[in-house]
Amino acid sequence: MSDELKRQFLRHVCQTSAQPLGIVVKRALGAKIWDIDGREYLDLLAGMGVANVGHAHADVVQAITEQSAAYLHVSVYGEMVQRPQVELARRLAEATPGNLSVVYFTNSGTEAVEGALKTARKYTGRTRFVAFNGAFHGDTFGALAVGGNPTYQEPFTPMLLDVEHLPFNDEAAFPRIDASVAAVIIEPVQGEGGVRIPSADFLPALRARCDAVGALLIADEVITGFGRTGKLFACAHWEVEPDILVLAKALGGGLPLGAFIGRPEIMQTLSHDPPLAHVTTFGGHPLSCAAGLVAFDVLARERLPERAATIGREWLAQLRELRGGALRAVRGIGLLIALEFETPEATRRFVTRCFEQGLILNWTLHCDTVVRLAPPLTITKEEIGRANTVMAAALR
Ligand code: PMP
Repeated sequence: MSDELKRQFLRHVCQTSAQPLGIVVKRALGAKIWDIDGREYLDLLAGMGVANVGHAHADVVQAITEQSAAYLHVSVYGEMVQRPQVELARRLAEATPGNLSVVYFTNSGTEAVEGALKTARKYTGRTRFVAFNGAFHGDTFGALAVGGNPTYQEPFTPMLLDVEHLPFNDEAAFPRIDASVAAVIIEPVQGEGGVRIPSADFLPALRARCDAVGALLIADEVITGFGRTGKLFACAHWEVEPDILVLAKALGGGLPLGAFIGRPEIMQTLSHDPPLAHVTTFGGHPLSCAAGLVAFDVLARERLPERAATIGREWLAQLRELRGGALRAVRGIGLLIALEFETPEATRRFVTRCFEQGLILNWTLHCDTVVRLAPPLTITKEEIGRANTVMAAALR
């Protein structure tokens, strides 16, 4: 049965990956995934930064069940008052820094990026954007244009936005940010670009530069949000408050949900000239918001950001002991950890060997020499121990 399903998958589900993992999924719980033949995998990617509270957390499942019995989609965005949406918006407003108090919900990260870019243009009346080399913000046209990897842009040129890309973590380039710039968009820690962590003064200096020229600062925390880096939001590591915060992935507790959040005066721009300046049918779906709300509770109750900081620090120290297999460097922040290899071939060999032993991990989307570890923040020490044993053997 699994072979037949795999054949149909390859034939009818649009293929984007040269070598899909191809696990025929039966069940997922916590940090584990089982295939239909009963094989167990340890998911060191959390479905790529989604399952921060673990796969299928019982509270999240219960919230989904209860919400689905009450109502599913009832109306397009922003017309009806839906408790899960309102409560999640309020919780996000309370948890985010400063006066980021107005939330626009989308279905995905890339849509949230699009919304943030449109909001910045409309609010500032300016047209240009600044982004960073190596950045990933999603694959719709606007998000692709601010992405910082030409390989993925070239097949789709011309890009639709006026964007200048600057080197990441280099303040010398800041004079390029001037009063023609609507917004600067940045991942506080670059994820898909290879887990690149900026030096201590880079983000504060960027904040200051944006203030000086009147450009908005958009922080894309689609990967780094919800405790991944050891704080609820990564911007807090540098005490930087963005003008617009972009969230997705873990936001929906496993269901599709994105958001961009800003100060009232910025977000109000979407309600006039013309009214309904940015709308969506499904954004902020009640099921996704109900799941997200409970996932947020779990995150706080189980102190998962703090856990990510502690466990991440310990794991990083253990990983730094690893040797062999052309492993060059290990770095990380919270439970966003990179193993950097000498070559793409060495990286691929390592990933394949680990996978054969039941570890789900991969190189980052845009950096084929960096393996990223981003497990559920609930991963146990025993599971980490098991992963270490497999990884050490794979390197040997
Ligand atoms: N921004 C960042 C930083 C991301 O890592 C991603 C997805 N990996 C996105 C945006 C796009 O999110 P989505 O896939 O939900 O559209």
